[in-house]
Amino acid sequence: MTVIYNRVALIGLGLIASSMAHAMRQFGLAGQIVGHAKSAETREIARSLFCDEVFATAAEAVKGADLVVLCVPVGVMGQIAAEIAPHLQPGATVTDVGSVKAAVVEAVGPHIPQGVHFIPGHPIAGTEHSGPRSGFATLFRNRWWLLTPLQGADPEAVARLRRLLEGMGANVDEMDVAHHDLVLAVTSHTPHLIAYTMVGVAEHMRRVSNSEVVKYSAGGFRDLTRIAASDPVMWRDVFLTNKDAVLDILGRFTEELFVLQRAIRMGDGDHLHAYFTRTRAIRRGIIEAGQDTSAPDFGRSVPAAGQGKD
Ligand code: NAP
Repeated sequence: MTVIYNRVALIGLGLIASSMAHAMRQFGLAGQIVGHAKSAETREIARSLFCDEVFATAAEAVKGADLVVLCVPVGVMGQIAAEIAPHLQPGATVTDVGSVKAAVVEAVGPHIPQGVHFIPGHPIAGTEHSGPRSGFATLFRNRWWLLTPLQGADPEAVARLRRLLEGMGANVDEMDVAHHDLVLAVTSHTPHLIAYTMVGVAEHMRRVSNSEVVKYSAGGFRDLTRIAASDPVMWRDVFLTNKDAVLDILGRFTEELFVLQRAIRMGDGDHLHAYFTRTRAIRRGIIEAGQDTSAPDFGRSVPAAGQGKD
Protein backbone atom coordinates (compact mmCIF):
# COMPACT_ATOMS: atom_id res chain seq x y z
CA MET A 1 0.00 0.00 0.00
CA THR A 2 1.52 3.30 -1.07
CA VAL A 3 0.11 6.72 -0.40
CA ILE A 4 -0.36 8.27 -3.85
CA TYR A 5 -1.85 11.63 -2.85
CA ASN A 6 -1.23 13.30 0.50
CA ARG A 7 -4.51 15.18 0.67
CA VAL A 8 -7.54 14.32 -1.46
CA ALA A 9 -10.45 16.77 -1.54
CA LEU A 10 -13.79 15.28 -2.60
CA ILE A 11 -16.31 17.88 -3.73
CA GLY A 12 -19.78 16.33 -3.53
CA LEU A 13 -20.05 13.49 -1.01
CA GLY A 14 -22.54 11.02 -2.49
CA LEU A 15 -22.29 7.48 -3.88
CA ILE A 16 -19.13 7.93 -5.95
CA ALA A 17 -17.22 10.13 -3.49
CA SER A 18 -18.04 7.94 -0.49
CA SER A 19 -17.05 4.80 -2.43
CA MET A 20 -13.75 6.45 -3.38
CA ALA A 21 -13.11 7.42 0.23
CA HIS A 22 -13.81 3.90 1.51
CA ALA A 23 -11.60 2.37 -1.19
CA MET A 24 -8.73 4.85 -0.71
CA ARG A 25 -8.82 4.15 3.03
CA GLN A 26 -9.01 0.39 2.64
CA PHE A 27 -6.03 0.33 0.27
CA GLY A 28 -4.04 3.10 2.02
CA LEU A 29 -3.87 5.32 -1.08
CA ALA A 30 -4.44 8.77 0.47
CA GLY A 31 -2.86 10.57 3.42
CA GLN A 32 -5.92 12.63 4.31
CA ILE A 33 -9.40 12.66 2.82
CA VAL A 34 -11.35 15.88 3.14
CA GLY A 35 -14.55 17.05 1.50
CA HIS A 36 -17.42 19.41 0.92
CA ALA A 37 -21.10 18.90 0.07
CA LYS A 38 -23.99 21.29 -0.27
CA SER A 39 -25.99 20.31 2.81
CA ALA A 40 -24.85 20.33 6.43
CA GLU A 41 -26.54 16.94 6.86
CA THR A 42 -24.44 15.26 4.16
CA ARG A 43 -21.28 16.90 5.53
CA GLU A 44 -22.05 15.56 9.00
CA ILE A 45 -22.63 12.01 7.72
CA ALA A 46 -19.41 12.17 5.67
CA ARG A 47 -17.46 13.37 8.70
CA SER A 48 -18.71 10.46 10.76
CA LEU A 49 -18.25 7.80 8.05
CA PHE A 50 -15.29 8.57 5.78
CA CYS A 51 -13.88 12.13 5.81
CA ASP A 52 -11.05 13.32 8.06
CA GLU A 53 -12.37 16.88 7.73
CA VAL A 54 -15.31 18.51 6.00
CA PHE A 55 -15.71 22.16 5.05
CA ALA A 56 -18.70 24.43 4.58
CA THR A 57 -17.36 25.64 1.21
CA ALA A 58 -15.63 23.95 -1.71
CA ALA A 59 -13.02 26.75 -1.72
CA GLU A 60 -11.86 25.86 1.81
CA ALA A 61 -11.93 22.12 1.07
CA VAL A 62 -9.44 22.26 -1.82
CA LYS A 63 -6.77 24.27 0.04
CA GLY A 64 -3.57 22.24 0.28
CA ALA A 65 -5.02 19.29 -1.65
CA ASP A 66 -2.81 17.57 -4.23
CA LEU A 67 -5.87 15.84 -5.71
CA VAL A 68 -9.33 17.39 -6.09
CA VAL A 69 -12.16 15.16 -7.32
CA LEU A 70 -15.38 16.79 -8.50
CA CYS A 71 -18.16 14.35 -7.56
CA VAL A 72 -21.18 16.64 -8.03
CA PRO A 73 -23.90 16.41 -10.71
CA VAL A 74 -22.63 17.39 -14.17
CA GLY A 75 -24.75 20.56 -14.24
CA VAL A 76 -22.94 22.17 -11.28
CA MET A 77 -19.33 21.24 -12.18
CA GLY A 78 -18.64 24.64 -13.83
CA GLN A 79 -19.93 26.65 -10.90
CA ILE A 80 -17.78 24.61 -8.46
CA ALA A 81 -14.70 24.97 -10.70
CA ALA A 82 -15.11 28.77 -10.73
CA GLU A 83 -15.34 28.78 -6.94
CA ILE A 84 -12.29 26.59 -6.25
CA ALA A 85 -9.99 27.91 -8.99
CA PRO A 86 -8.24 30.65 -6.95
CA HIS A 87 -7.61 28.21 -4.09
CA LEU A 88 -6.02 25.32 -6.00
CA GLN A 89 -2.45 24.45 -5.04
CA PRO A 90 0.10 24.71 -7.90
CA GLY A 91 0.96 21.23 -9.19
CA ALA A 92 -2.36 19.79 -7.95
CA THR A 93 -4.52 17.55 -10.12
CA VAL A 94 -8.23 18.20 -10.62
CA THR A 95 -10.31 15.32 -11.94
CA ASP A 96 -14.04 14.68 -12.07
CA VAL A 97 -16.29 11.63 -12.17
CA GLY A 98 -19.08 13.09 -14.31
CA SER A 99 -21.02 10.75 -16.60
CA VAL A 100 -20.65 13.18 -19.54
CA LYS A 101 -17.27 14.49 -20.61
CA ALA A 102 -17.55 17.19 -23.31
CA ALA A 103 -19.89 19.36 -21.22
CA VAL A 104 -17.64 19.02 -18.16
CA VAL A 105 -14.52 19.89 -20.14
CA GLU A 106 -16.29 22.95 -21.52
CA ALA A 107 -17.62 24.06 -18.12
CA VAL A 108 -14.57 23.29 -15.96
CA GLY A 109 -11.58 23.65 -18.31
CA PRO A 110 -11.56 27.46 -18.64
CA HIS A 111 -11.38 27.92 -14.84
CA ILE A 112 -8.35 25.70 -14.24
CA PRO A 113 -5.27 27.88 -13.58
CA GLN A 114 -1.87 27.37 -15.23
CA GLY A 115 0.20 24.83 -13.32
CA VAL A 116 -2.81 22.75 -12.23
CA HIS A 117 -3.50 19.50 -14.10
CA PHE A 118 -7.06 18.91 -15.24
CA ILE A 119 -7.67 15.24 -16.14
CA PRO A 120 -11.37 14.47 -16.75
CA GLY A 121 -12.56 10.98 -15.82
CA HIS A 122 -15.58 8.73 -15.44
CA PRO A 123 -15.94 5.49 -13.48
CA ILE A 124 -18.25 3.04 -15.26
CA ALA A 125 -19.57 1.82 -11.96
CA GLY A 126 -22.59 2.75 -9.94
CA THR A 127 -25.80 1.66 -8.34
CA GLU A 128 -29.30 3.11 -8.20
CA HIS A 129 -28.57 4.38 -4.67
CA SER A 130 -27.22 7.81 -3.91
CA GLY A 131 -25.99 9.88 -0.98
CA PRO A 132 -23.13 9.63 1.53
CA ARG A 133 -24.34 6.37 3.11
CA SER A 134 -24.55 4.48 -0.19
CA GLY A 135 -20.82 4.08 -0.91
CA PHE A 136 -18.75 0.91 -0.50
CA ALA A 137 -15.06 0.15 -1.02
CA THR A 138 -15.49 -2.45 -3.76
CA LEU A 139 -17.68 -0.38 -6.11
CA PHE A 140 -14.83 0.09 -8.60
CA ARG A 141 -13.33 -3.42 -8.44
CA ASN A 142 -12.91 -4.82 -11.96
CA ARG A 143 -14.90 -1.90 -13.39
CA TRP A 144 -13.58 0.41 -16.09
CA TRP A 145 -12.59 3.97 -15.24
CA LEU A 146 -12.27 6.07 -18.39
CA LEU A 147 -9.87 9.00 -18.44
CA THR A 148 -10.15 11.59 -21.20
CA PRO A 149 -6.88 13.58 -20.89
CA LEU A 150 -6.84 16.79 -22.91
CA GLN A 151 -4.22 17.74 -25.48
CA GLY A 152 -0.90 18.49 -23.80
CA ALA A 153 -1.83 16.69 -20.56
CA ASP A 154 1.17 15.98 -18.34
CA PRO A 155 1.96 12.23 -18.69
CA GLU A 156 3.28 12.02 -15.12
CA ALA A 157 0.12 13.53 -13.66
CA VAL A 158 -2.00 11.11 -15.72
CA ALA A 159 0.14 8.13 -14.62
CA ARG A 160 -0.20 9.14 -10.96
CA LEU A 161 -3.98 9.40 -11.21
CA ARG A 162 -4.04 6.05 -12.98
CA ARG A 163 -2.14 4.48 -10.07
CA LEU A 164 -4.79 5.74 -7.65
CA LEU A 165 -7.67 4.39 -9.73
CA GLU A 166 -5.95 1.03 -10.27
CA GLY A 167 -5.19 0.95 -6.53
CA MET A 168 -8.97 1.08 -5.93
CA GLY A 169 -9.38 -1.98 -8.16
CA ALA A 170 -10.44 -0.25 -11.39
CA ASN A 171 -9.21 -0.97 -14.91
CA VAL A 172 -8.23 2.27 -16.62
CA ASP A 173 -8.63 3.19 -20.28
CA GLU A 174 -8.02 6.48 -22.06
CA MET A 175 -10.43 7.84 -24.61
CA ASP A 176 -11.17 10.94 -26.61
CA VAL A 177 -13.86 13.18 -25.03
CA ALA A 178 -16.39 13.04 -27.90
CA HIS A 179 -15.95 9.30 -28.33
CA HIS A 180 -16.58 8.79 -24.61
CA ASP A 181 -19.90 10.62 -24.86
CA LEU A 182 -21.01 8.52 -27.84
CA VAL A 183 -19.99 5.20 -26.24
CA LEU A 184 -21.80 6.11 -23.02
CA ALA A 185 -24.89 7.23 -24.92
CA VAL A 186 -25.08 3.64 -26.23
CA THR A 187 -24.11 1.72 -23.10
CA SER A 188 -25.68 3.82 -20.37
CA HIS A 189 -27.58 6.98 -21.21
CA THR A 190 -30.08 5.69 -23.81
CA PRO A 191 -30.73 2.44 -21.85
CA HIS A 192 -31.62 4.59 -18.84
CA LEU A 193 -34.01 6.66 -20.94
CA ILE A 194 -35.67 3.50 -22.26
CA ALA A 195 -36.04 2.13 -18.73
CA TYR A 196 -37.51 5.44 -17.52
CA THR A 197 -39.95 5.36 -20.45
CA MET A 198 -41.16 1.79 -19.91
CA VAL A 199 -41.70 2.36 -16.20
CA GLY A 200 -43.57 5.56 -17.11
CA VAL A 201 -45.73 3.63 -19.60
CA ALA A 202 -46.66 1.07 -16.94
CA GLU A 203 -47.56 3.89 -14.56
CA HIS A 204 -49.91 5.47 -17.11
CA MET A 205 -51.66 2.25 -18.23
CA ARG A 206 -55.27 2.19 -17.29
CA ARG A 207 -56.06 -1.41 -18.23
CA VAL A 208 -53.37 -2.93 -15.97
CA SER A 209 -53.52 -1.81 -12.37
CA ASN A 210 -50.47 -0.57 -10.47
CA SER A 211 -50.80 -3.44 -8.02
CA GLU A 212 -50.64 -5.95 -10.91
CA VAL A 213 -47.53 -4.22 -12.29
CA VAL A 214 -45.83 -4.63 -8.93
CA LYS A 215 -47.11 -8.16 -8.23
CA TYR A 216 -46.07 -9.64 -11.59
CA SER A 217 -42.90 -7.54 -12.03
CA ALA A 218 -40.51 -10.55 -12.07
CA GLY A 219 -41.47 -10.95 -15.75
CA GLY A 220 -38.77 -8.40 -16.66
CA PHE A 221 -40.28 -5.11 -15.53
CA ARG A 222 -38.50 -5.09 -12.16
CA ASP A 223 -35.08 -5.08 -13.84
CA LEU A 224 -36.06 -1.87 -15.63
CA THR A 225 -37.34 -0.36 -12.36
CA ARG A 226 -33.87 -0.73 -10.82
CA ILE A 227 -32.41 1.46 -13.54
CA ALA A 228 -35.39 3.83 -13.48
CA ALA A 229 -34.88 4.37 -9.73
CA SER A 230 -31.59 6.19 -10.40
CA ASP A 231 -31.05 9.70 -9.09
CA PRO A 232 -33.29 12.23 -10.91
CA VAL A 233 -30.86 15.17 -10.63
CA MET A 234 -27.91 13.19 -11.98
CA TRP A 235 -29.90 11.83 -14.91
CA ARG A 236 -31.59 15.10 -15.76
CA ASP A 237 -28.11 16.61 -16.10
CA VAL A 238 -26.83 13.69 -18.19
CA PHE A 239 -29.59 14.17 -20.79
CA LEU A 240 -29.27 17.95 -20.81
CA THR A 241 -25.51 17.77 -21.38
CA ASN A 242 -25.09 14.74 -23.68
CA LYS A 243 -27.95 15.82 -25.91
CA ASP A 244 -26.45 15.22 -29.37
CA ALA A 245 -25.11 11.72 -28.76
CA VAL A 246 -28.29 10.59 -26.97
CA LEU A 247 -30.53 11.97 -29.74
CA ASP A 248 -28.35 10.20 -32.32
CA ILE A 249 -28.68 6.83 -30.55
CA LEU A 250 -32.39 7.38 -29.80
CA GLY A 251 -32.99 7.96 -33.52
CA ARG A 252 -31.35 4.62 -34.33
CA PHE A 253 -33.29 2.95 -31.51
CA THR A 254 -36.59 4.25 -32.86
CA GLU A 255 -35.79 2.95 -36.36
CA GLU A 256 -34.96 -0.52 -34.99
CA LEU A 257 -38.11 -0.48 -32.89
CA PHE A 258 -40.22 0.21 -35.97
CA VAL A 259 -38.55 -2.68 -37.81
CA LEU A 260 -39.32 -5.03 -34.91
CA GLN A 261 -42.87 -3.65 -34.67
CA ARG A 262 -43.35 -4.43 -38.35
CA ALA A 263 -41.91 -7.95 -37.93
CA ILE A 264 -44.41 -8.60 -35.13
CA ARG A 265 -47.30 -7.20 -37.20
CA MET A 266 -46.30 -9.29 -40.25
CA GLY A 267 -45.69 -12.43 -38.20
CA ASP A 268 -42.05 -12.52 -39.34
CA GLY A 269 -40.74 -15.05 -36.80
CA ASP A 270 -37.46 -15.56 -38.67
CA HIS A 271 -36.60 -11.90 -38.30
CA LEU A 272 -37.41 -11.87 -34.58
CA HIS A 273 -35.49 -15.10 -33.96
CA ALA A 274 -32.38 -13.91 -35.79
CA TYR A 275 -32.50 -10.55 -33.99
CA PHE A 276 -32.84 -12.08 -30.52
CA THR A 277 -30.05 -14.57 -31.28
CA ARG A 278 -27.69 -11.67 -32.05
CA THR A 279 -28.64 -9.78 -28.88
CA ARG A 280 -28.13 -12.89 -26.76
CA ALA A 281 -24.52 -13.06 -27.96
CA ILE A 282 -23.92 -9.55 -26.56
CA ARG A 283 -25.02 -10.73 -23.12
CA ARG A 284 -22.58 -13.66 -23.38
CA GLY A 285 -19.80 -11.22 -24.29
CA ILE A 286 -20.50 -9.10 -21.18
CA ILE A 287 -20.28 -12.19 -18.95
CA GLU A 288 -17.07 -13.37 -20.65
CA ALA A 289 -15.56 -9.90 -20.09
CA GLY A 290 -16.23 -10.29 -16.33
CA GLN A 291 -18.70 -7.38 -16.28
CA ASP A 292 -21.63 -9.44 -14.91
CA THR A 293 -22.46 -12.77 -13.36
CA SER A 294 -23.57 -15.80 -15.38
CA ALA A 295 -25.84 -16.94 -12.53
CA PRO A 296 -29.52 -17.20 -13.55
CA ASP A 297 -31.51 -14.04 -12.69
CA PHE A 298 -28.24 -12.24 -11.74
CA GLY A 299 -27.80 -14.72 -8.86
CA ARG A 300 -30.76 -13.27 -6.96
CA SER A 301 -32.37 -15.44 -4.33
CA VAL A 302 -36.13 -15.33 -3.94
CA PRO A 303 -36.90 -13.12 -0.93
CA ALA A 304 -39.11 -14.61 1.77
CA ALA A 305 -42.57 -13.06 2.02
CA GLY A 306 -42.32 -9.51 3.38
CA GLN A 307 -38.51 -9.38 2.97
CA GLY A 308 -38.41 -8.02 -0.52
CA LYS A 309 -37.59 -4.49 0.52
CA ASP A 310 -34.10 -2.99 1.01
P1 NAP B 1 -25.05 11.58 -5.36
O1 NAP B 1 -24.92 10.32 -4.55
O2 NAP B 1 -26.42 12.11 -5.62
O3 NAP B 1 -24.17 12.74 -4.67
C1 NAP B 1 -24.05 14.01 -5.21
C2 NAP B 1 -23.32 14.88 -4.21
O4 NAP B 1 -23.12 16.17 -4.80
C3 NAP B 1 -24.07 15.11 -2.91
O5 NAP B 1 -23.18 15.01 -1.84
C4 NAP B 1 -24.55 16.54 -3.04
O6 NAP B 1 -24.65 17.20 -1.80
C5 NAP B 1 -23.45 17.16 -3.85
N1 NAP B 1 -23.84 18.39 -4.51
C6 NAP B 1 -24.84 18.59 -5.39
N2 NAP B 1 -24.87 19.88 -5.80
C7 NAP B 1 -23.87 20.50 -5.13
C8 NAP B 1 -23.39 21.84 -5.09
N3 NAP B 1 -23.93 22.81 -5.81
N4 NAP B 1 -22.33 22.11 -4.29
C9 NAP B 1 -21.76 21.14 -3.53
N5 NAP B 1 -22.18 19.86 -3.53
C10 NAP B 1 -23.21 19.55 -4.32
O7 NAP B 1 -24.35 11.45 -6.76
P2 NAP B 1 -23.32 10.37 -7.34
O8 NAP B 1 -24.09 9.18 -7.81
O9 NAP B 1 -22.19 10.20 -6.40
O10 NAP B 1 -22.87 11.14 -8.68
C11 NAP B 1 -21.88 12.14 -8.63
C12 NAP B 1 -21.28 12.30 -10.03
O11 NAP B 1 -20.81 11.02 -10.46
C13 NAP B 1 -22.26 12.78 -11.09
O12 NAP B 1 -21.62 13.72 -11.91
C14 NAP B 1 -22.57 11.52 -11.89
O13 NAP B 1 -22.82 11.84 -13.25
C15 NAP B 1 -21.30 10.72 -11.73
N6 NAP B 1 -21.45 9.25 -11.80
C16 NAP B 1 -22.47 8.64 -11.14
C17 NAP B 1 -22.62 7.25 -11.25
C18 NAP B 1 -23.77 6.54 -10.57
O14 NAP B 1 -24.12 5.43 -10.96
N7 NAP B 1 -24.38 7.11 -9.56
C19 NAP B 1 -21.68 6.50 -11.98
C20 NAP B 1 -20.62 7.16 -12.59
C21 NAP B 1 -20.52 8.54 -12.49
P3 NAP B 1 -25.96 17.06 -0.85
O15 NAP B 1 -26.00 15.62 -0.43
O16 NAP B 1 -25.67 17.97 0.24
O17 NAP B 1 -27.13 17.43 -1.71
